[in-house]
Amino acid sequence: MLLCEKCGKIIADSGYEKVHYGICASCPLPSEETKEDNSELLFDLETIREVVDIVIGDDGFRSKEVIEILKMEKANATRTTQKVQ
Ligand SMILES: [Zn+2]
Repeated sequence: MLLCEKCGKIIADSGYEKVHYGICASCPLPSEETKEDNSELLFDLETIREVVDIVIGDDGFRSKEVIEILKMEKANATRTTQKVQ
């Protein structure tokens, strides 16, 4: 008996009583699951501002602060890059 360790689905029933665990076709492999791909997770400042406003729920004071910090980070990153070149 081969069970999926993720969803418990029977992958193969060999007729043996001993249960082995694997990953079925519909569950992601552990390596695929842990592999983080943030390359598509780039948001513009307006989106970030909106999200912060929703989360904090104030009059936009915190989101303004967040945007200012992000701009500062960007400026720092640009400066560092220029230094390296
Ligand atoms: Zn599964």
